[in-house]
Amino acid sequence: MLNFEFQNPTKILFGKGQIATLNKEIPQDAKVLMTYGGGSIKTNGVYEQVIAALGSRTIIEFGGIEPNPSYETLMKAVEIMRTESIDFVLAVGGGSVIDGTKFLVAAVDYAGEPWDILRKSVRTFKAMPFGTVLTLPATGSEMNSGAVITRHETQEKLSMGGPGLFPKFSVLDPEVVKSIPKRQLVNGVVDAYTHVLEQYMTYPAGAWLQDRIAEGIMQTLIEVAPRIIADPSDYTAASNFMWSCTMALNGLIQKGVPTDWATHMIGHELTALYNIDHAMTLAIVFPQLYKVKFEHKKEKLAQYAERIWNVSAGTIDEKAQAGIDKTVEFLHSLGVKTRLSEYTDDFAKAGGFIENRFAERGWKGLGERRDITPSVVREIVEFYQCIVPMGLSWFKTFLLLPIYRLYEAKTWFRLKLFFHVFANPNTWNFLKNNQFPKSLIYYCHFSAVILYLSR
Ligand SMILES: [Zn+2]
Repeated sequence: MLNFEFQNPTKILFGKGQIATLNKEIPQDAKVLMTYGGGSIKTNGVYEQVIAALGSRTIIEFGGIEPNPSYETLMKAVEIMRTESIDFVLAVGGGSVIDGTKFLVAAVDYAGEPWDILRKSVRTFKAMPFGTVLTLPATGSEMNSGAVITRHETQEKLSMGGPGLFPKFSVLDPEVVKSIPKRQLVNGVVDAYTHVLEQYMTYPAGAWLQDRIAEGIMQTLIEVAPRIIADPSDYTAASNFMWSCTMALNGLIQKGVPTDWATHMIGHELTALYNIDHAMTLAIVFPQLYKVKFEHKKEKLAQYAERIWNVSAGTIDEKAQAGIDKTVEFLHSLGVKTRLSEYTDDFAKAGGFIENRFAERGWKGLGERRDITPSVVREIVEFYQCIVPMGLSWFKTFLLLPIYRLYEAKTWFRLKLFFHVFANPNTWNFLKNNQFPKSLIYYCHFSAVILYLSR
């Protein structure tokens, strides 16, 4: 086990009716800025409970914090906080509202241009106090000190953090789950599951307890996912779902182990580029990342396959591959698509764009071994993304696809990737099942011809 320090000062108020405890958690004379998102709190009863609990305190509301909270929106709130002399912020919402609120409390007294906190990775040691009422389990932001903010002007999505950004308290009432739409529930499951994977799927570090806790969270998420999707008012499932999301990213399972986080770094770029939901970007990235970094991750992948998916037969390599396949099956069972090309027709530019962006930022090596270089990032993003299944004729596709791929194979590495893809049995299964929409097949044939002619 690696050395570590662990301190998490956030007080958790968990369970039915806990919103009422806000009254004793926020100073009586506080001037409160209440932040929220699209207004769902006004239809699910949370708003009324919060207002009742705050009693006679002066409250100023700031709604409209969007998913992937934007710098542009948040700076308006910073202005209000300065002019109104706010001294406590209460975030009522999901991860986006809470992340946005962390930016507010860090930015309000920041001497320079607040975007520098993100651009220059300035850690926040002291910030205005804030608490949260969680309405959407997913990100774990309610019990950690990190946040991710988007700036539309520059199409950037960057993270920030520091010990000053732990919430003073977070209210977790699982009854809010019953009013969450299915898409958001699925996003929550996938985001939390990936948070665990980022801290688990590296290499064995002799941290047996952390491994078991991480596995317990994943097993719980697998168990609760179909139940909350079928019936979000199932309180037992909802409470386990909520607590799993929090535990997945409150710092506990990352202690004493190496962590990866490359999936999130790459996923953030896909959100910034295509506005794909955060959780869905993770589902696109991590299966490919595990294939590309297979040799470095296979021991943990095999352990994961054994303990989570009961894969007992086979070599380490076979178990590890089964671990990836089972996870993708799990994602598909939730209705989650795992290829970038299933979200956008404009997928071809992503690999090169993200490679350049990481190179510009000087992100030379991501992942637990710091060996995911910008060119490896490109490999991960492009891996399998444009493997065209047939549907028209095998002959045509076989003729055109190699030309298309070879056109892009400007280096030996890309040529290698091409052969790797076509030598992989997964490709053939995929082709046989013909999972792609017809339009994409046409698109790829068309692109192949155009690319070939334009050489
Ligand atoms: Zn996440």
